[in-house]
Amino acid sequence: MDKSVFLEDLDAFAYREALASGEAIVLIPVGSLEQHGPHLPLGTDTILSSHFAEGVARRLGALVAQPIAYGYKSQQKSGGGNHLSGTVSLDGATLVGVARNLVKSFLKQGVRHVVFINGHFENYQFLYEGIDLALDELGIEPGAEQSVLLLSYWDFVSQDTLMQVYPDGFPGWDIEHGGVLETSLMLHLEPARVAMDRLIDGPAAVLPRFDRLPVVPERTPATGCLSSAAGSSTAKGGLLYGQVVGDLAADLAGELIREPALAVVPA
Ligand code: ZN
Ligand code: MN
Repeated sequence: MDKSVFLEDLDAFAYREALASGEAIVLIPVGSLEQHGPHLPLGTDTILSSHFAEGVARRLGALVAQPIAYGYKSQQKSGGGNHLSGTVSLDGATLVGVARNLVKSFLKQGVRHVVFINGHFENYQFLYEGIDLALDELGIEPGAEQSVLLLSYWDFVSQDTLMQVYPDGFPGWDIEHGGVLETSLMLHLEPARVAMDRLIDGPAAVLPRFDRLPVVPERTPATGCLSSAAGSSTAKGGLLYGQVVGDLAADLAGELIREPALAVVPA
């Protein structure tokens, strides 16, 4: 059996051995508990970020920490809105605090690099703030040995992949909620957790250029999805996952791994 990359499977002595190398990299998946229409589970963002972290960790020899399984409030223009039941969210200050606590704990224990792998659009700036506050409190300045990286996995999808996944034109990452990207990835990675027979096709959401609070609920399509998942396939999911994990692992290896011998091992 393959050695697990998940911290939850490691014993404390094996973890300390990894720390003692001085080269430990810990990836933290970040997601949400959020409605994703009738065909995808509420945990989709967390499930997908965890799979990306696992794939990258295997190639880099990194470890994957417990995910942050709740996210910042779903916004109408990127996740349908926080008013929809099934969506359970954190205040910004709470997510900032969680990120800050995790960075402080891992870096103080001797982890060299922490990498947040984000899978929920609304989280990004709160994670950034938590990281910044933690580094400030730890007195970690530019040029230090230790660092923290933050990324959203969809930013690694290449133009070439995009054209193959969306032959009729790409709707935009913000309204890719419950759409072809997430559905195809879930079909590839977790087929038993997708109900394609429940998928409802329809036009993409038409949303104003401003945010209005409180939201006008009718602006979110009844499905809860902002673009249609029709056209999703296992093959598209496999293409997306393989390309993103490959590029992500290569970028992180180039940025974080000192010893070329340790760099990217084939999956
Ligand atoms: Zn999502
Ligand atoms: Mn989301």
